[in-house]
Amino acid sequence: MKQRLVIGNWKMNGSLADNILWATHFRHGLKSQTLQDVEVAVCPPFPYLQSIRSILPDIVQLGAQDVSSECIGAFTGEISVNMLKELQCRYVIVGHSERRARMGERDADIAEKFKLVSLAGLTPVLCVGETEQERAHGQTRSVISHQIQTVIDRCGAHALRNAVIAYEPVWAIGTGVSAELADIQSTHAVIRAQLSDNGLDADDVTLLYGGSLKPGNSEEIFSLPNVDGGLIGGASLKAADFLDICWAAQ
Ligand code: PGA
Repeated sequence: MKQRLVIGNWKMNGSLADNILWATHFRHGLKSQTLQDVEVAVCPPFPYLQSIRSILPDIVQLGAQDVSSECIGAFTGEISVNMLKELQCRYVIVGHSERRARMGERDADIAEKFKLVSLAGLTPVLCVGETEQERAHGQTRSVISHQIQTVIDRCGAHALRNAVIAYEPVWAIGTGVSAELADIQSTHAVIRAQLSDNGLDADDVTLLYGGSLKPGNSEEIFSLPNVDGGLIGGASLKAADFLDICWAAQ
């Protein structure tokens, strides 16, 4: 079976004290058992990357929530991919819908970030998904296809090998309402078809679902064909909930 991937995106939440508690609860929850065929990663805010690495060196991978599209220089406030590499991040989220909507990130900027991350040997987690309005206009497929194709055109299809794509309908993020199972399944199938049209194999790319994924719906979502795991926001903030989701991914 293909290894599942569960990534927690903490967004701009938590504190040093919260992180230590989270880590203690997560480790305690795992006890002596190990998750079978599931890789777990957390993406804390940048300032906590190092502390999470030192308090949980062994059981979770580290991810970053974003990265600069520049490599070095006078870019106040930016974080480069080499800095993330030094902090032993394995994953880097690019193109999260909150950054697309609130920071004005465009597909071309995101493709550039994707390229830098993959060239550095880290794994990009490309977030794609339609807004409520695009969905209402029947544009889900075209929006997602364009988001993915921009990356393929900029980086080449080979750059997606071993990458992660997270399908996250924007209207499902943080709302408590996830997409219908049938919609997740069909959208994932469309993404796989696009990847295969570009010469990639089904197993080359890990395909996650994100958007109000929680303990109550994770098992059914993970049982869908084509879903290789999840990108979890709100429910990753409580170690017990996140752990339940990780168990469901087994
Ligand atoms: P959510 O967020 O799980 O809180 O809906 C998902 C995400 O933004 O990646």
